[in-house]
Amino acid sequence: MNFSDIVNRLKLNKDLPDEELILLIDSDEANEPLFAAADEIRRKIYSDEVYIRGLVEFSNICKNNCYYCGIRCGNKKAVRYRLSKEDILDCCAEGYALGFRTFVLQGGEDPHFTDEVMCDIVSSIRSLYPDCAITLSVGERSKESYQSYFDAGANRFLLRHETASEEHYRHLHPDDLSLENRKKCLFDLKEIGFQVGSGFMVDSPYQTTRNLVADLRFLQTLQPDMIGIGPFIRHEDTPFAEFESGSLYKTLRLVSILRLMFPYALIPSTTALGTIHPQGREMGLKAGANVVMPNLSPKRVREHYMLYDNKICTDEEAAESVEKLKNKVACAGYRVVTARGDVKKDCSR
Ligand code: SAM
Repeated sequence: MNFSDIVNRLKLNKDLPDEELILLIDSDEANEPLFAAADEIRRKIYSDEVYIRGLVEFSNICKNNCYYCGIRCGNKKAVRYRLSKEDILDCCAEGYALGFRTFVLQGGEDPHFTDEVMCDIVSSIRSLYPDCAITLSVGERSKESYQSYFDAGANRFLLRHETASEEHYRHLHPDDLSLENRKKCLFDLKEIGFQVGSGFMVDSPYQTTRNLVADLRFLQTLQPDMIGIGPFIRHEDTPFAEFESGSLYKTLRLVSILRLMFPYALIPSTTALGTIHPQGREMGLKAGANVVMPNLSPKRVREHYMLYDNKICTDEEAAESVEKLKNKVACAGYRVVTARGDVKKDCSR
């Protein structure tokens, strides 16, 4: 099999038949040609720049019961917390001083954060930091709710579709959640004018390679601005405690495939990648990712936002260590910049 030839065609056409995508996703021999081609394209569009986002994990309270997730409502062992508006603004102040120009507010679907509460927080951040992007990742809400967050000053929204296959979706979620609604939310967000991020877990339980191809096809329809993927990692207090965690190299190959199919996309090198391998995030950058999201949450709560076992939350992963992060990124051959880091869609080939 000539993997360089397949990768070259993907690089030139941004599309391949399903069977060839399956070969690339599943074959270790595809690693080198994929990583090299993805790096070439990312450098063409984003140069050696790596954007940093300050992540505020503001609540681990969630009304949902997704089978894979450590903060699912059914996990009675989780120590629950919720940050106040003041806590969140303190995180932003600290982040701004450190050079962050994007704040990402992520949390479980916590009913305390009504539209009124969310809009109050968003508009306060907007008036204090007019030069910053505000990204929300608060799960599924109505179109009216999303519109109100946008009007309050939020610019971006992260909502992974998790899996685009109906059958696979049912393996991962209880009956009160639906793929149809998840997808509707994503299109609502786009219509409103958010920069939208979606994505999926790699090697989640019951996932087939065809499911992953369906994920890529769904993203081709959605055309998101950001795409976040990471390996599934088991959590001991979930129904998926006995499943194996995802493959590092399959995740890296998918990062590269995404870079080639969506050249303009903002692709984070995720915490999950850093959790399954000590150099996982540097490897992610070399495979085509161009964003990292250090943790800005208060130290006292970090260990409780435990989506999966051993999620890294040491000081080195946190925003305070921006200098260390800059060095790590430089060693990998890239450069941390403190710009807002908006999508460069015009550069799409
Ligand atoms: N509630 C929001 C939502 O549903 O989009 C944001 C928080 S949710 C916990 C953030 C992401 O964590 C999910 O989209 C999922 O892909 C990821 N995640 C949850 N459990 C995971 C696991 N066991 N392994 C890897 N990623 C996981």
